[in-house]
Amino acid sequence: MPRNYDIAELRRLDIAHHLPAQADWQEIEDLGGSRIITHADGCYIHDGDGNRILDGMAGLWCVNVGYGRDELAEVAREQMLELPYYNSFFKTANAPAILLAEKIASLTGGRLPHVFFNSSGSEANDTILRMVRHYWQVKGEHSRTIVISRHNAYHGSTVAGVSMGGMKVMHGQGFPAPGILPMAGIEHVRQPYWYNEGRDMTPEDFGTACAQAIEDKILEVGPENVAAFIGEPVQGAGGVIIPPANYWPQVEAICRKYGILLVCDEVICGFGRTGNIWGHETVGVKPDIIAMAKGLSSGYLPISAVAVSAEIVQVIKTGGDFVHGYTYSGHPVASAVALRNIEIMEREGLFEKVRNETGPYLAEKLATLRDHPLVGEARSVGLLGAVEVVADKATGARFGGAEGTAGPMVRDICIRNGLMVRGIRDSIVMCPPLIITPSQIDDLIGIIRTSLDEAEPKLRAIG
Ligand SMILES: *Cc1c(COP(=O)(O)O)cnc(C)c1O
Repeated sequence: MPRNYDIAELRRLDIAHHLPAQADWQEIEDLGGSRIITHADGCYIHDGDGNRILDGMAGLWCVNVGYGRDELAEVAREQMLELPYYNSFFKTANAPAILLAEKIASLTGGRLPHVFFNSSGSEANDTILRMVRHYWQVKGEHSRTIVISRHNAYHGSTVAGVSMGGMKVMHGQGFPAPGILPMAGIEHVRQPYWYNEGRDMTPEDFGTACAQAIEDKILEVGPENVAAFIGEPVQGAGGVIIPPANYWPQVEAICRKYGILLVCDEVICGFGRTGNIWGHETVGVKPDIIAMAKGLSSGYLPISAVAVSAEIVQVIKTGGDFVHGYTYSGHPVASAVALRNIEIMEREGLFEKVRNETGPYLAEKLATLRDHPLVGEARSVGLLGAVEVVADKATGARFGGAEGTAGPMVRDICIRNGLMVRGIRDSIVMCPPLIITPSQIDDLIGIIRTSLDEAEPKLRAIG
């Protein structure tokens, strides 16, 4: 049961001492402090003002099994008492990390049999950047260092994560020259965002054009200089961008043609989110390396993993030490919790449920929003969805003449109406826990519709 916190005092201390992530600290101070989330159960979060809010974002794309799982607390407690910590630097390992690695390998169908652990999605991508470059060094192809990514990709907030990511605002902070790409050796190509960038073409032609941009970039920089291509099967933080179906198979064929490693960032898409265990299954490719985090532990403890092909590991084994790794790589408690979390998802058939029941149901309900005067597009894959808010359905014109006005307004109204969603530019995005029921999906869609209705006069006044 929730404790009896002094919420006003917590808000005051929040402003005085706590610096929240990815936030405008002055704005939060002006608002009188953050919303204090006190407790949560199932698909609902509760705040200090007594609001019960349907969590349409599964925390931050991660709480797949929902909140309040006794079993995960029990496993953590037992593991802490038995072995709370040990490293894997000293030719040592622990049982939960080994068993979790075996589990993850089996979930790839044995295609990616080796697993390296980290504590966050960003760290996983840092590991991947060093690993793929090191692989080519050991193999003797010293010029292969460039990683190709996409504009508006999200690969994390560390230096390598930001650099491989394609978020312009992030590239502009904390690096020597604003606007100059932070790390050398990363190239970005166009993203497969049909609604915003491709509506003058069929989705198929647009998918081909976006894949072609990758080949063009490879030829521009020289195939012998390219180490890897990295992409989220479905871009999450970029705004739930679902590529045309013909995009990824072409991307894979291009990578194979030039001998370039294919990396999928499964940090959001992994563990059932798109209706299959992996997003790469949904989009129909076979990557050489994948990053996973978030749903791996349903966010109960920080842990991430990189699953790697046998070929890559065999090559790296001929190169001596791979001088990379973290104090918390293979953390026993996080590993034990992640392992049990996966067992829960399997036991409760959550992957199948998303594929056969709740995913199709969300798609069906989202489709009912298409008649709304503010909805330009409503799209989803599995339990990952977005609604594009527009001023003019025919032209796709945005309120205020540019993206960024409608999204935050509709999001705030949704939250006031009891639904946590995210506004990314002018899309309202959703990613509920995999345990969400059809009647909770009805609530989710109902609140979005009501909130769009409520926002409409305010937005029309802006024009
Ligand atoms: C969240 C996210 C990351 C970063 O994970 P952190 O745990 O926040 O470091 C990386 N890639 C993708 C696709 C993500 O969604």
